[in-house]
Amino acid sequence: MVVRSGPSEFELPKGALLIGDTRVTNAEGGYYEQLDPSTGGFLASISMAGNAEIEFAVETARDAQQEWRSLAPAQRRDVLFELADLLDSRHEEFSLLRSLELGSPLKKEKGANLAVEYIRYFAGWGDKIGGATIPVFPGKVLDYTVPEPYGTVAALTPWNGGVVSVAMKVIPALVAGNTVVLKPSELAPLAPLRFGELCLEAGIPPGVVNVLPGGVEAGRALVSHSGIDKISFTGSAATARQILSQAATNLTPVVLELGGKSGNLLFADGDLDSAVSTTIGTALAGMSGQGCVLPTRLLIEDSVYEAVEERVVEAVSSLVVGNPFQEGVQAGPVITEEACQRILAVVESADREHHGTLLTGGQRIGGSLSGGFFVEPTVFGEVDNSSALAQEEIFGPVLSLIRFRDEEEAIELANGTRYGLGGLLFTRDLARAHRVSHRLDAGSIGINSFPPMPPAAPFGGVKESGYGREGGLAGVEEFIRIKNVYVDIDRS
Ligand code: NAD
Repeated sequence: MVVRSGPSEFELPKGALLIGDTRVTNAEGGYYEQLDPSTGGFLASISMAGNAEIEFAVETARDAQQEWRSLAPAQRRDVLFELADLLDSRHEEFSLLRSLELGSPLKKEKGANLAVEYIRYFAGWGDKIGGATIPVFPGKVLDYTVPEPYGTVAALTPWNGGVVSVAMKVIPALVAGNTVVLKPSELAPLAPLRFGELCLEAGIPPGVVNVLPGGVEAGRALVSHSGIDKISFTGSAATARQILSQAATNLTPVVLELGGKSGNLLFADGDLDSAVSTTIGTALAGMSGQGCVLPTRLLIEDSVYEAVEERVVEAVSSLVVGNPFQEGVQAGPVITEEACQRILAVVESADREHHGTLLTGGQRIGGSLSGGFFVEPTVFGEVDNSSALAQEEIFGPVLSLIRFRDEEEAIELANGTRYGLGGLLFTRDLARAHRVSHRLDAGSIGINSFPPMPPAAPFGGVKESGYGREGGLAGVEEFIRIKNVYVDIDRS
């Protein structure tokens, strides 16, 4: 493993809450000291929402909603296109923010900002969402449907999604005429706060998008507020259970985008090199394993198991881990010291309890990176699919290799978790590819490559990975409710 580090300089957004066009510091939730995951040094002091600010934000968003929903759909579309252009022009800044907050290696190339594509895609629906006429008694009765916004949406995002996660949730809500109170995780709130500023700059009226970083208390206050008409949550299944019980008080509808433990099926006739590089590039490099849909369980057909295991270990040993701003670095740190300790503890207990054979990694990285939260890319071989290592989200750079005999066993192992977010499979046999993808319990499947989450494609899970969809028309429909109107023409 090659280790590199290096300095970085970047001007940060202020850590104030954005409510309407007011920047709130000294909030009831106090301050969160955000650290740079690459160095462990101070990054920003973040104001945290408390009950009073949640109250103020919900009221502000509700006030703004009447005007926002009354705009011509094309007006909403155009202002969202303006937002996309602004975000696009600030591409470099958002790339830097991502590397700084999340520790992901810096992507310099244009087009890396998927958020812009999501905004443009959803904005395009602005003037296309219509209702239907219903055949009841033609000529005597006119029965039609009207798509309406819910009202004010609570959007709760995890720390790992950056501005893409925000765009996937907030923009479809806006295009349908809702206003939003966004509560990003306190662990990485800078990109969402800058996003809120850009919304105002683009001409979205104050109060339509409010951004309130905060922790559990703020989240609870928001989802149990009677002024919230719909909740869209992305995060862990454990938090989702709490949210459902909090939302039950007002029977608020909820969309859940939760975790995963995606199975990645490599058949002997698949392109082994491509499978190995795709797996390592997604499950260990990039986000250092901190993604819901990353293929962290590589299921390998018996006859090629040894060859694949050897290639994986060899490729992992040449992964460049280091400061995300340095040229050539492929994997950065994990998000916090606590995450680092938790991941190391999972690895240690998996090794001790023989969940599999530790093939490489498993230690904290020291030397010039000792101040940051760096875990060695780690691979376990011959993993028992029923072990915690294979069943739990580790949310760190840890890959499990699992052996299978035949197609039937591959499907059984892949489906043998409580999650069902994504699935990958590598085979040159097209009939098998379709047959297997049909039987996998997952919201999205990639065949022979890792899907780049195109905005027009729906994304979401089954089983404990949640319900509801983000992306595609399905993602817009989550924020629309249908009203039916019956007109008795004969008596009118
Ligand atoms: P988390 O569940 O700890 O927190 C998510 C959000 O909920 C945060 O904003 C948090 O402050 C808030 N929250 C926590 N407790 C709350 C409560 N009781 N009431 C209301 N809000 C509360 O998740 P995380 O650690 O930030 O993110 C990692 C998790 O998110 C992983 O499980 C990952 O798989 C999942 N994730 C899913 C997707 C997806 O699209 N399916 C995308 C990214 C991340």
